[in-house]
Amino acid sequence: MHHTATQRLYFDHPALLRFEAGVLRCNDERTAVVLDQTAFYPTSGGQPHDIGTLHDIEVIDVTEDGNDVVHHLAAALPTSADRVRGVVDGARRRDHTQQHSGQHLLSAILEDRFGWPTVSIHIGREWCTLDLRSNAVSASALSEAEQMVNELVTDDLPVTVSYEDAASAQGLRKPSTRQGALRIVTIEGIDRNACGGTHVTSTGMIGPVLLRGTEKVRDTVRVQFRCGMRAVRRARIDATLLTEAAAALSATADDLPGLVQAQRDALLTSEKTCTALRAQLDRYEAQALLSATPANSRDLRLHVDRLTDLPVKSRQAFAQQFVSGSRAVYAVAAVTPPAILLASSSDSGIDCAALLREVLAAAGGRGGGTPTLAQGSTPSAEAADVCLAAVIERLGGASAE
Ligand SMILES: [Zn+2]
Repeated sequence: MHHTATQRLYFDHPALLRFEAGVLRCNDERTAVVLDQTAFYPTSGGQPHDIGTLHDIEVIDVTEDGNDVVHHLAAALPTSADRVRGVVDGARRRDHTQQHSGQHLLSAILEDRFGWPTVSIHIGREWCTLDLRSNAVSASALSEAEQMVNELVTDDLPVTVSYEDAASAQGLRKPSTRQGALRIVTIEGIDRNACGGTHVTSTGMIGPVLLRGTEKVRDTVRVQFRCGMRAVRRARIDATLLTEAAAALSATADDLPGLVQAQRDALLTSEKTCTALRAQLDRYEAQALLSATPANSRDLRLHVDRLTDLPVKSRQAFAQQFVSGSRAVYAVAAVTPPAILLASSSDSGIDCAALLREVLAAAGGRGGGTPTLAQGSTPSAEAADVCLAAVIERLGGASAE
C-alpha cells in the first residue's frame, strides 16, 4: 500500500484552525482516520491533543502512530468522504499553547536562575506541573521565579520555530538524542529547545503565569503552574475563598493570617483553661459524691456509673479524686467502646487489677492496671455490664444512696 506520513500543519502554523485534507486510510469502522495533512495536535511531549470536528464529526482523541496522526471520531466517516474539512477547537488549542510556552519560559528560569533542570512536564485539565531536579523549592524561590517569568511575559519576547540539523544545532537547553532535522523553539535571548509542541509567537501571548503548590515526588520537586486564563480563573477562586474566610471572621483578607494565628492562640489558652476547670470540677463532684455515699456491708463506699457515649477513660481523673477518700471504690462501665474501669483507695484492701482480670477473664475481656486503678475492654456492652455486676457483687453491693 502506498504510504505517506501526515504533514503536520501546526508545526509552522500554530494559529491555523481550519484546513482541508485528503483521507489516507481508516480503520474498518471508519472511526480512526489518517489524513495527508492535519492541523490537529496529537497527544505527545506532555501536551494533550486537540479536539474539534472532521467532516462535521466530533474528533474525541488524536494520537500518534509512527509519523502519522490518527483522528478518533465519535461516529463513522462516510465512505464517500475522501476529502474532508477539519476544524480545530481554538479555545482549547490556545490554552494548551499558553501552558506549553509558559512551561518553556518557566523551565528556563528555574534552571538558569536557580539551577533546577526540568525532568518532566505534564499539562493537565486544571493544573500543569513540572518536575525539577531539586531537593527543595522554598516559597520565596517560587515567588521570585513567578515574578521573573511574568516580567519576561511582559517583555513580549519573540518566540520562533526553526529547523536545524541535530549535529550542528547550537545552544540547546537539552542535547537532542535524535538525528537529522530538529524542530527548535526559540524564546529570544532566553531558551532554545527541541520541541514538537504548539507555541505562542511572542511571550506576551502566554498571559499571566501563576505558580502554586510544590510537592516532593521521589527525587524531584513537582511545581504546579497555570498560564493565561487558567491563572486568572484560579486567582479569582483564591480571592473568593479568602474573602469568604475573612467575612466569617468579620475581617478583610489582608488581616486573615494574623487573625487566624490569634484565634489559634486563643483556642489553645481556652483548651488549657477548660482542662484545669474540668479537673477542679471533678474534685468537687468527687468530694460531694463521696460524702453522700454511705458505707456498704463490707464498710466500703462503693459508687457505680454507666456511660452510654463516653469512654471509661473520660472518668479516670474523677475516679482518682473519688478514691482519694477513705475506703472508697469507684466502678464504671461504658458502651462505646465496651469497657470497664475500677479504682480503689489504698486503705480499701482491694486489688483492682487482680479483681478486674478475674471478672474480665470470665466475660471474655482483657485488661490490667495497678492495685488502685485498672481498666479493661470487653467483647460487647453486655459483657461490660456483666463484669460490672460481678465487681459489685464481689465488693458487697453498691452503697445505697
Ligand atoms: Zn516543549
